[in-house]
Amino acid sequence: MALREMDGATLLQDRLFDRCPLGCSDDLQTSAIILTEGPLLRCAMCSQLLSSCTHGQYERALKKWDSSNGTIPAAQSAARFQQVTERRLRCALRLLGRLSPPPLRLLDVGCSSGALLAVAAKLGFSPSGVEIASKAAETAQRAGFEVFCGMLHEARFADEAFDVITAFELIEHLNAPLLLLSECHRILKPEGVLILNTPNAGSWTAGVMRECWDGFNLSSMGGHVSFFSPRSLANLAGQCGFRVERLETRRVRFAESHQVSPIVYRILKIMGEVLSIPASLLNKGHDMLAFLRKM
Ligand SMILES: [Zn+2]
Repeated sequence: MALREMDGATLLQDRLFDRCPLGCSDDLQTSAIILTEGPLLRCAMCSQLLSSCTHGQYERALKKWDSSNGTIPAAQSAARFQQVTERRLRCALRLLGRLSPPPLRLLDVGCSSGALLAVAAKLGFSPSGVEIASKAAETAQRAGFEVFCGMLHEARFADEAFDVITAFELIEHLNAPLLLLSECHRILKPEGVLILNTPNAGSWTAGVMRECWDGFNLSSMGGHVSFFSPRSLANLAGQCGFRVERLETRRVRFAESHQVSPIVYRILKIMGEVLSIPASLLNKGHDMLAFLRKM
């Protein structure tokens, strides 16, 4: 059913998405995945899934991120965060090779309270950040980092200012991702690298769990509204002057821990672990990480 036929004109006026934000011309269709806000919408051309939430629901969900702790990892996961972030940044260094003399300039978009900036500084990058949530940005500034509080385009960075841009767990929150990637393209040096991660809506997890998957949850995930697959992510990258240099997906899950009994959760977790290698090989894992190169 086409979106415009779904439930009348009044609802459409306030809906966050009335067309695919990746610029496709086809109408959005309703999918069979029904969430609290209504059915997820699907772009027939690029397969992007989109929340049918209103502007008000979206803005309320985004407020979750404005706390002074921001996304500082909890003590028990700090070591893991450091390890994962280091691996990603070292991969960007390998892709860059000897293109620029050190220190390489890195910008973290959506830097929150600065956890990634600290790891980047340790690796020898000259890091800075952009963060829209003022309390989290202040925490990063107090730690000594250069952080602009506002939207990326408002920071008015110079052309070709950065070697690496990171935007982790960000694009699924955006209603206009083309604007963000176009601005990243402008401020990256030629052949510079943009690293993104986002839930994979084409994953086995999304296919099996559907509306039960936390990745689709608007309020608990602080405003997840736009769900990429490897195909739609490549579409976004290509439209903004990037090529996908490397794409990896990992992890399979069949239930959230709060949805089933502990023993069932344990069994499903083992099944997920068994399937994690084929999922990675086939790009069917639910955590998607992409290294995009400025063309
Ligand atoms: Zn589309």
